[in-house]
Amino acid sequence: MPHVVTSACIDHKYQDCVAVCPVDAFRETEKYLIIDPEECIDCGACAPECPVDAIFSDTDILDEDEAWIDRNAHESIDAERAEGDSPILADDEFSHEIPKIVSIPRTNVLEGRITGMTDWHGKN
Ligand code: SF4
Repeated sequence: MPHVVTSACIDHKYQDCVAVCPVDAFRETEKYLIIDPEECIDCGACAPECPVDAIFSDTDILDEDEAWIDRNAHESIDAERAEGDSPILADDEFSHEIPKIVSIPRTNVLEGRITGMTDWHGKN
């Protein structure tokens, strides 16, 4: 009765779960982690560590993620052991969404003159 990583891990790949696993059961692919069912002792330590709730016991898995039971088993055969030091993909995703801060010349702000803007009186 192993635990299973599910679709919520795709493009996130947080490593918190890897750090708490007592038997090094996690494996990694390019886009997500998986658990080797031959190694997992079903202790349950990893599930509450996942920030995106991607890990379930195979007896509690969501219906839409049932295929991930086989996926973890099959893909873990050839996958690399997860060491917990791979890039967290979610960090990359969010870094593209942070808008750049636009700097306004300090002198124009202090004098109330920002080129091209209209003041509250409706004058430039
Ligand atoms: S349930 Fe325990 S043994 Fe299995 S992958 Fe999670 S932490 Fe490792």
